[in-house]
Amino acid sequence: MFDVQVKRMHEYKRQLLNCLHIITRYCRIKFDKTYRVARTIMIGGKAAPGYRVAKLIIKLINNIAHVVNNDPDIGSKLKVVYLENYCVSLAEKVIPATDLSEQISTAGTEASGTGNMKFMANGALTIGTMDGANVEMAEEVGKENMFIFGLTVQDVKKLRSSGYKSSDYYHKGSELRRTMDMIKDDYFSCGCQGQFMEIFDILYHSDHYLLLADYRDYVRTQDVADQLYLRKIEWTKKALLNIAACGKFSSDRTIKEYADDIWKAKYTLEKLKA
Ligand SMILES: *Cc1c(COP(=O)(O)O)cnc(C)c1O
Repeated sequence: MFDVQVKRMHEYKRQLLNCLHIITRYCRIKFDKTYRVARTIMIGGKAAPGYRVAKLIIKLINNIAHVVNNDPDIGSKLKVVYLENYCVSLAEKVIPATDLSEQISTAGTEASGTGNMKFMANGALTIGTMDGANVEMAEEVGKENMFIFGLTVQDVKKLRSSGYKSSDYYHKGSELRRTMDMIKDDYFSCGCQGQFMEIFDILYHSDHYLLLADYRDYVRTQDVADQLYLRKIEWTKKALLNIAACGKFSSDRTIKEYADDIWKAKYTLEKLKA
């Protein structure tokens, strides 16, 4: 399975949540000897030049890739790739090749997203939160034809106002704790001790984007995706339903709405002359 998250690097887009899932999957294969589907997980995206934490997350992804890809206990069961220089030319190659599209931002943070629609139009299934245009995609294709998980906008509001304490999730969840401890204990540090302590501290002490609150349902939903992937006909049916339902997201429809509602301009079928 080609499992892909390509978009700008930002904490709200939660590439780190994807990392927590990768480490969980790695541990299950290596220590628990449980395994269902071979995945190649790709993450790509640029970070703003001064965004230190985003760059540290890129470093973590590369180091996880180094450890996972060179572990003989893992072999071809799991591969991790950091796609560098993510741009439209690379998007044109990677989006059509994708099986599973990662659209996992914290509910209430993504204005719309457009990558999500590109994957839908190109036959990927989406694992995602009820955020941004994932909501409209679910309206068009039906939630049952996506892998929806996690807190809703209302859940996020409630949780924040009741005083979110991320460390409770760390102490209560043994699988989450094992995953986070590997980051803390330099399993992926490749000789540079303590370099990811800041990432552990962000998650443990603040976790503004609620990764730990969504972790368990995210991992559970990834298992649901594995189970469906093994039923090839059913997976393919859902992919075709997604393609058939993505018409609303065409730029023609968007431009027509702008013409009608915002610009109050009449359209013409006449072609522009060169
Ligand atoms: C579509 C696109 C984006 C936006 O992706 P989101 O998932 O909506 O953030 C960013 N970069 C490139 C190169 C794109 O093609």
